[in-house]
Amino acid sequence: MERIDKVVEAFNRHGFLAEKFADMNQAKTALLKLIRPEETVGLGASMNVKEGGVLDALVGRGQTLFTNMTGPDRTPQETDAMRRDAMVADWYLASSNAVTEQGELINIDGVGNRVAGLIFGPKKVVVMVGQNKITKNFADGMKRIKSEACGKNARRLSRATPCALDDRCHDCDSPHRMCNTVTWVQRPNSWHTEFHVYIIEEDWGY
Ligand code: SF4
Repeated sequence: MERIDKVVEAFNRHGFLAEKFADMNQAKTALLKLIRPEETVGLGASMNVKEGGVLDALVGRGQTLFTNMTGPDRTPQETDAMRRDAMVADWYLASSNAVTEQGELINIDGVGNRVAGLIFGPKKVVVMVGQNKITKNFADGMKRIKSEACGKNARRLSRATPCALDDRCHDCDSPHRMCNTVTWVQRPNSWHTEFHVYIIEEDWGY
């Protein structure tokens, strides 16, 4: 059995609804069937969702979205309100910073809304993740996040963190720190009614 199939199997064994897709287009098609057009969707910032065309597809069919990735410039108060609205949407859609071969999701967050949305926000969740995010275990996942993702994301978002300069974690105290909270989701919570994990056989995001 291929590694990716083992990962899908591990997620399903843990109670997630996991599937693999050959490419982002196939994953997007499945997502657009899964989420009904009249349902509301909260989104955590995700390069996969944006660059993979998922966001445009949802916007294009008039989906009600709660996300900073679309719409006008918002004041900090408006952004806060939108993040709270996302917590009571029908669905939460996000990516993951790493997944493990044991069928677990690892995420970091500087604000907290994205990890909150995954664990105690909408009762229905979809995580879309590229094969490049698969790691052996929690320790390898954290290593990957700190050495491969944080610095690149900091540069992309113009965050003045030490890792933006050298792609190494300094366990910083920066006000821009992006890993204030780490979540290690090993099973869906009893709160969840559906927790989908879409694993795409392409590389997406950092
Ligand atoms: S603790 Fe600071 S330096 Fe380390 S990965 Fe997070 S933001 Fe970067």
